Amino acid sequence: MVAPLAPPPPDLAPAPATRERTAADPVLACARCGHAITRPAARVARGGAHVHTRINPYGYVFQLGCFDPAEGCAPEGPATLEHTWFAGHAWRLGTCRACGEHLGWRFEGETGVFWGLILDRLREA
Ligand SMILES: [Zn+2]
Repeated sequence: MVAPLAPPPPDLAPAPATRERTAADPVLACARCGHAITRPAARVARGGAHVHTRINPYGYVFQLGCFDPAEGCAPEGPATLEHTWFAGHAWRLGTCRACGEHLGWRFEGETGVFWGLILDRLREA
């Protein structure tokens, strides 16, 4: 079950009329399969920073980058506030739309939605 992504608010939407995509535009791709996930230009600061180091209840450490949007990532499962890393934001798993690799999490709060992606599972392409 994959919920559609909400469209970005107007002030964050790309402006295709004024910006042409070129072959030189870098893309951040799934490190496993190469599917385009997001772009360096989609980096955002959430909770005061772009990069966060977080530890999950099982003791695994993740270095996350915050992105909005990440069209190549699919939200999975129900949103939950349990053990959330960003106060007031419920999370779902985020997986690669092409290969299903776990790439991070989608965080959903009153102020909007963003993705926390595991940086070593992305590569520039
Ligand atoms: Zn993939």
